[in-house]
Amino acid sequence: MDGGKRLFFDYPLPKLEKAVVEEGEKPYRARQLFEWVYKKRVYDPEMMTDVSKSYRERLGAAFSFALPEVAARQEASDGTVKFLLKMEDGSLVETVLMRYDYGNVACVSSEVGCSMGCAFCASGLLKRTRVLTSGEMVGECLVVDDMLKESGERLSHVVVMGTGEPFDNYDNVMDFIRTINDDRGLGIGARHITVSTCGILDKIRRYGKEGLQINLAISLHASNEKTRRELMPIARGYSMDELMDACRDYVSSSGRRLTFEYILIDGVNDSDENAYELASLLKGIFCYVNLIPLNPVKEKPFRRSKNARRFMGILNARGINCTVRKEFGTDIDAACGQLRAKYQKDK
Ligand code: SAH
Repeated sequence: MDGGKRLFFDYPLPKLEKAVVEEGEKPYRARQLFEWVYKKRVYDPEMMTDVSKSYRERLGAAFSFALPEVAARQEASDGTVKFLLKMEDGSLVETVLMRYDYGNVACVSSEVGCSMGCAFCASGLLKRTRVLTSGEMVGECLVVDDMLKESGERLSHVVVMGTGEPFDNYDNVMDFIRTINDDRGLGIGARHITVSTCGILDKIRRYGKEGLQINLAISLHASNEKTRRELMPIARGYSMDELMDACRDYVSSSGRRLTFEYILIDGVNDSDENAYELASLLKGIFCYVNLIPLNPVKEKPFRRSKNARRFMGILNARGINCTVRKEFGTDIDAACGQLRAKYQKDK
């Protein structure tokens, strides 16, 4: 952080109140600052006119209000916008805006690079160098929302499905969620926030007990142990049975329906047999399956399945709710990590 300043966006309101009180100010100052930043989008303390001049000066010296810098931006014909954002230390992360008919969704990265090493994923081509702070993730949302505001729109949904494993960065992700969910922050409804994990069991259970109406998606991508281990190194640490137990615990403690993400890959996990297997694996779990068309990555050998409709039909016939995910930004490099990988190669 420049000159040892703290990043303002790293502070959910209760933490900011504490910090403000430690500086000898009244706690209501924190609400005032939240109002300036998150409602009025004023990022310069000098302009916060109802704050005393002396405190404005101290604020400017103590906190940085710097948003991530937009290093590159790509727009697809369907309105999808992919941002390559540069953090204060020069780290590059990707954030994507997708326009669904129900709202504007930001897909946020949680780490710089990723160490999970999933076989089909472009993010893992660049290993994790560090986690993102909660404020850097808030910054990703502010960049997207500020752009939307210019055309009178707003950010309504957030998915933590960009680069990184959010449950490897649990505390920062939860602070991030508190700030964007807070009515005095970005005011994004809990039901409109989804975190996606490759399956870290203790965090799945912990997330279920947060007492928030936030959503969870599990990247499953296989109907049996053998295939999951081939595709996802995390599966070598936790068996499929243990994962399913954690999922059941999550549903019973949160009362929320769980989403399973399943990328259909030609000849790898997309046979009718796999569909039957998946249906019996998920039987009795309050859940929904999101079938994802593979986003082909140049460096990887996998191809897109041609069996999506049939696969979906088999699951539905067995009482498993299931849809095929709509695709966005196919004419830009919208798959995880592709823009960043390209940008770094070109440099
Ligand atoms: N680490 C978390 C979140 C980031 S990945 C997780 O694993 O869930 C977000 C989603 O994108 C995951 O479901 C991931 O498996 C999927 N994904 C990764 N590479 C993909 C590709 N090439 N095509 C389609 N989906 C992909």
